[in-house]
Amino acid sequence: MRISKLLMPTLREDPADAEVISHKLLVRAGLIQKTAAGIYNYLPFGYRVIRKVENIIRAEMNRAGAQEVLLPAVVPAELWRESGRWDKYGKELLRFKDRKEAEYCLGPTHEEVITALARAFVHSYKQLPLNLYQIQTKFRDELRPRFGLMRGREFIMKDAYSFHATQESLDAEYQNMRETYCRIFAACGLQYKVVQADSGNIGGSVSQEFMVLAENGEDALLACPQCAYSANVEAAQSRPDTPVAAPTKEKMQEVSTPDKKTIEEVSAFLKTSPENLLKTLVYYYKINERENYVVVLLRGCDQLNEVKLKNYLQADLILPAEDSAVLKITGVEPGFCGPVGLQNVRIVADELIKTTSSGVTGANKKDTHLLNVVPGRDFELKETADLRLACSGEKCPHCGVPLQAIRGIEVGHIFKLGTKYSEAMQAVYLDQNGTAKPFIMGCYGIGVGRTAAAAVEQHFDANGIVWPPALAPYHCVVIPANVQEPAQLAAAEKIYQELLAAGVEVLLDDREERIGVKLKDMELIGISSRVVVGKALAEGKVEFRLRAATDNELIPLADAAKIILARLRA
Ligand code: ATP
Ligand code: MG
Repeated sequence: MRISKLLMPTLREDPADAEVISHKLLVRAGLIQKTAAGIYNYLPFGYRVIRKVENIIRAEMNRAGAQEVLLPAVVPAELWRESGRWDKYGKELLRFKDRKEAEYCLGPTHEEVITALARAFVHSYKQLPLNLYQIQTKFRDELRPRFGLMRGREFIMKDAYSFHATQESLDAEYQNMRETYCRIFAACGLQYKVVQADSGNIGGSVSQEFMVLAENGEDALLACPQCAYSANVEAAQSRPDTPVAAPTKEKMQEVSTPDKKTIEEVSAFLKTSPENLLKTLVYYYKINERENYVVVLLRGCDQLNEVKLKNYLQADLILPAEDSAVLKITGVEPGFCGPVGLQNVRIVADELIKTTSSGVTGANKKDTHLLNVVPGRDFELKETADLRLACSGEKCPHCGVPLQAIRGIEVGHIFKLGTKYSEAMQAVYLDQNGTAKPFIMGCYGIGVGRTAAAAVEQHFDANGIVWPPALAPYHCVVIPANVQEPAQLAAAEKIYQELLAAGVEVLLDDREERIGVKLKDMELIGISSRVVVGKALAEGKVEFRLRAATDNELIPLADAAKIILARLRA
């Protein structure tokens, strides 16, 4: 392509709303343009990158035996009512009505649509297993769309769904997808990690995320430097090193703690460590429209992992209770609550509470705490669960080595769904004995735009994007230093034509611009290599440089195309 004919709107300034490097560079390089919050145009060079990601995904998914389909973006509410998610999904689901007042949503994910499709056509175990995928525009009305393509509201996703007659068959396909995803992200030139994950809004039991490692990643991860364990903090576990001490014989005792509300204030005032305090939190939760409250107990040194609590309660929503609710349940304002004497409210304790021999808790009385409170003696410990946020430095649950904190960008997520959707939607097949059984399902997603953005986060320098070659919009640009020089123009044209004939994705920068401007543009966009036809032409030479390199190589004009091809393939 001749650049004079292309839409290539590079900018000199970073966009004002961009915080992360990929957002800045994708906009400045003229690859994307914002239309509304979290909604983007993909401009010609940007769309080439998107298509490359898609094609890598498509090739690997096809190789893995999955079949491509395309499902509608607009989905009738009926299907979402069948699965029960219409009422549960919350505000990320964009809902609207047509002219007949029928309700619809823009699909944020397509379990319902695909389950209805399988229900219509798959009737026998002989048709299983089956894996269908699509590459399609999704819409999620994200609370905080940001970081450009990283967290959009409208974004392109590859989503795949598999159907099985047995758990073993699902396990095998999950493994197949796991390996396929590894091939996809490796082919994209990304450094990634597979981590244990929470299943979120999608549901199901087992899930893993593919994380591109990057300092700006939105996801906090814990990884073991010794064994293979790594997890999103939402799901991470750690091994406590607190030995179980014998419970104290001392009696429970009230102590005055005027205005001392926080763990820090109380522990400083009583000259004890936070570990010896019992933290009491009150949470509101909702299950199937039923509302309730729960009191959560943790060691004073621990933080609550809200995802773990939500999963444990199997709640659709959890929120810290309002002060008025805390007062109603415990009889006191937050800061002085405790489990002793609480009635008519569910109490759930983190499992490490069992390892505390005694602790300090609020007395459910203003400006008062209780000393020597023994769990099980002074209050009943009915429900315990792992509710704690695991932290770096704590021990790996498998091998005991201290966990390290790293950050990542979630580019893919694979789930074992089980029969969550097939049961709810009565999607069944007949097994060998003619018995109707719900499909056992898996689902597998990749964010296409987010993968491209993640590639930028890992591959850039002071001058712009350094695309991994597999994602670069073009692989070579031929630049005549001065288009007014007929000899330079002719030589550039010759190299350009030879590279085109050899099948290279090549550009000719035939613009009447200064060479400095041209080089800047190409570096910003991240074209994989450049050939400058300038002064050296007098000696029959041209200058070649890979985008990732820092020095020019003088190569003879006669063999230029051949040498460039070899460098690009190396
Ligand atoms: P997140 O926790 O980042 O919101 P998610 O768990 O909601 O992601 P999934 O439902 O698993 O995401 O969607 C599959 C993939 O789609 C994700 O792994 C991610 O790559 C991509 N994705 C999800 N939400 C967005 C978004 N708002 N913008 C761009 N890509 C997204
Ligand atoms: Mg999300």
